[in-house]
Amino acid sequence: MFRRFYPYAYTRSVFSIDYAKLRDKGFRAVIFDIDNTLVHHGDNSTPQVDALFRNIHKIGLKTLLLTNNDEERVQRFIKNIDTLYICDAEKPQPAAYLKALKMLGVGKEEAVCIGDQMFIDIVGANRCGIPNILVHFIQLPNEKHIGKKRYIEKVILWFYRRNKKYRSRLGDIYIKKEDKNALEQG
Ligand SMILES: [Mg+2]
Repeated sequence: MFRRFYPYAYTRSVFSIDYAKLRDKGFRAVIFDIDNTLVHHGDNSTPQVDALFRNIHKIGLKTLLLTNNDEERVQRFIKNIDTLYICDAEKPQPAAYLKALKMLGVGKEEAVCIGDQMFIDIVGANRCGIPNILVHFIQLPNEKHIGKKRYIEKVILWFYRRNKKYRSRLGDIYIKKEDKNALEQG
């Protein structure tokens, strides 16, 4: 009943994903949301995130940032990141996702969308048939208040976790603990 909200995989963070495994499964590009996916909402990039992009490029995957935020926000974020991007994307509308595939020069099954919002990032990717990964939204340690939508997401995730067919569509894409530090160091 919630299928259009279900991601292909759900994980803790962008640093829990083994991008080489995605490449080995035939993916050629990663489409990232920025806010609360790569950094906390509105924050600049971090050395860890900069290194993550360098590593993803090094293993042969292309990247594109797909954000509903504006040009100023993206420019501030990509100071040390060499990537394609689309701002003011109006996710979950499909147009920007399709434009992203075109810019990357890949088919819908060769890209994977990664984002923190089920009703935006995941629904949009699902509408376009692009495989996708939901990551737990980045939350500051003192941040107690979470929006109403997050509670609804929790309910849907409860059903999702019990649906093996949907939650394991990408198979093992997770990074081993010992590799995690190396990735973050760049
Ligand atoms: Mg987000």
